[in-house]
Amino acid sequence: MVAVQVLKNAISKDRISSAILLHGHYGVGKTSVARIISKSVNCRMRNSSSEPCNKCKNCDLIKKGIHPDIIEIDAASNTSVENIKQLVDNSRYLPTIAQYKIYIIDEVHMLSNSAFNALLKTLEEPLPHIKFILATTHKNKIPSTIISRCQHFHLTRLNSQDIISILTQVTTQENIVCESKALHLIAKNTKGSVRDAISILEQTYLYNEIITENNVYKILGLNSEDNVDELTHKILNNSEPKEVLSLFRELIHSYDPVVILEQVLDSLYKYISSNPQDSKTNHIHIIWNTILHDLQLLKYAPSIHNASEMIILKASLITSLPTPENIISDFYSSQKKNL
Ligand SMILES: [Zn+2]
Repeated sequence: MVAVQVLKNAISKDRISSAILLHGHYGVGKTSVARIISKSVNCRMRNSSSEPCNKCKNCDLIKKGIHPDIIEIDAASNTSVENIKQLVDNSRYLPTIAQYKIYIIDEVHMLSNSAFNALLKTLEEPLPHIKFILATTHKNKIPSTIISRCQHFHLTRLNSQDIISILTQVTTQENIVCESKALHLIAKNTKGSVRDAISILEQTYLYNEIITENNVYKILGLNSEDNVDELTHKILNNSEPKEVLSLFRELIHSYDPVVILEQVLDSLYKYISSNPQDSKTNHIHIIWNTILHDLQLLKYAPSIHNASEMIILKASLITSLPTPENIISDFYSSQKKNL
């Protein structure tokens, strides 16, 4: 992430401003980045690339969320001017053990106008021992006077590879045993959100201390891809509808039918993207469209279970039907015969 590199450089050159604004979508890791900055600027054994050691007293207390000089505030529940005035008053006292006292204000756009004004005064005359880290999903709701006092960084959604390396870092640091397939599965299902990825990792760990792909499937409420691929295989290979239905029923016995249908869509996509020239391509497109379309209509169905069985039965019949291309070519060949 470019923003992270710029931040690292700013820290290593001691050019970090007294106010930082982090903005980006939900779950991109704004509060995690804020905590890493807090560690980096206060770490007693920071390495040459400005990464905190994660071992010294400051790092340890920040990691545990109990550092007396790192104050995290949720602006959504502390919107008033009194809250901010109190914060500003307290900020005058020197830090207890860290070099910098750091105020992390999450969802800062929720502050009232008068609260922003109270904050602005402190940002205009920054005390050398203080840093403010403001985090927001809505930069446009923050007064420009505040923005102009901050170094701002836009955090973007991470790709799967970035999520995997963050999860690998966490599991190594915490000595957690895990399968690499499990981390891939978490990354694939959390769409760039570090917060969601770490939360799934934690839940899987609480379920069983060894993180396996199978356990991640359970936590995500997903069925193993192998079972769903088998169902897709049956649909594509013209198996008896009765057979398709019986496998589908087995799967929805323990899993949400909507999730299984969505997994069938994923499985079809996986098939077609690795075999784009396959003779079944036309049928796959029709099956994919049918399931996708019918999934939107499920909300009108009196029973989701019955409706999802109807969808899978309909999908299982498609390969035995002629495609529009078949009909056109049959039409032309019959015309030729008649000439
Ligand atoms: Zn440290």
